[in-house]
Amino acid sequence: MGERKADIWCPRCKWRPRPESRWMCTPSCGTVWHTFWTRGVCPGCAVKWPHTQCLACHEFSPHEAWYHYRDPQPGEEVSDPASLEAE
Ligand SMILES: [Zn+2]
Ligand SMILES: [Zn+2]
Repeated sequence: MGERKADIWCPRCKWRPRPESRWMCTPSCGTVWHTFWTRGVCPGCAVKWPHTQCLACHEFSPHEAWYHYRDPQPGEEVSDPASLEAE
């Protein structure tokens, strides 16, 4: 609850990563992993990659630009800032 689901797709060509898609940490440690499972962090050397290459169009985009948050739909629960109490 409270966490909005992000759609993940290439901001340039709208390609969506597949569960079997893999990225390689190169030229660093050579680990192959799914970069969106770790939000861009290599599990081999703990480097956070600021840019992610699209496996379809081969363009690099900021990792965060791949996450697309949908606006809440009418009827969906929206957290009300007024309900948050100040200290
Ligand atoms: Zn692309
Ligand atoms: Zn690495």
